[in-house]
Amino acid sequence: MNIKENLERINQNISDSIKKSGRKEGDVKLLAVSKFHPSEEIIEAINAGQIFFGENRVQEACEKFTPILKENNNISLHLIGQLQSNKVKNIVPIAECIQSVDRLDLLKEIEKQCEKINKSIKVLFEIHTGEESKSGFTDINEVYSALELISKNEFPHIIPNGFMTMAPFTEDEKLIRKSFSSLRDIKEKMQSEFNCFNLSELSMGMSGDYKIAIEEGSTMVRIGTAIFGERNYSK
Ligand SMILES: *Cc1c(COP(=O)(O)O)cnc(C)c1O
Repeated sequence: MNIKENLERINQNISDSIKKSGRKEGDVKLLAVSKFHPSEEIIEAINAGQIFFGENRVQEACEKFTPILKENNNISLHLIGQLQSNKVKNIVPIAECIQSVDRLDLLKEIEKQCEKINKSIKVLFEIHTGEESKSGFTDINEVYSALELISKNEFPHIIPNGFMTMAPFTEDEKLIRKSFSSLRDIKEKMQSEFNCFNLSELSMGMSGDYKIAIEEGSTMVRIGTAIFGERNYSK
């Protein structure tokens, strides 16, 4: 695996998809998903200019990124995997954004831990848009209620920044597209209800479907395999 070459190729593909869909250069950020890959590979990506990184699991994120963030103050770490409430206190100090907010209780815990260390943190609401994925809010009214509470200053350390989804694992491009366009619809609806917030971030698209996601309005693609290669889950 040549991480630098992979990053160059993907950045070029992203740029091509942006042009193809009539969007502006720079509209789409690349989040390098480094789960199950060692620190040396992350550092290789950093040396190739990569800034945004995503991890799924809190313990792994802390072990790898605590030293990396000390050395590299421009790096931005996003948590993208399901988050248990008892792990929030460990991830909050090192993450810039938690993309996998899927319940109100989690927001409460994030607020509590952020208040303790006097830090503000960005969050995305993860939405269930495809039958086969399990995670995320299924009831949009709950997202509305959460945003309403934030707008009433119930969670002063939380900065809502947009939405995240995973498309269904299928070859059917129509279903994938529908999942992404439904997230965009949700964003537009919520943004018009809550113009006090910037809810513009749409985190959608992975190694297999990021071009479709960009055509459907993605502002951040989360790519692991196409940068770092296959993951070895047995380690
Ligand atoms: C692992 C993961 C990715 C990256 O998947 P690839 O197919 O390896 O690009 C993206 N988003 C989430 C939420 C993930 O868990």
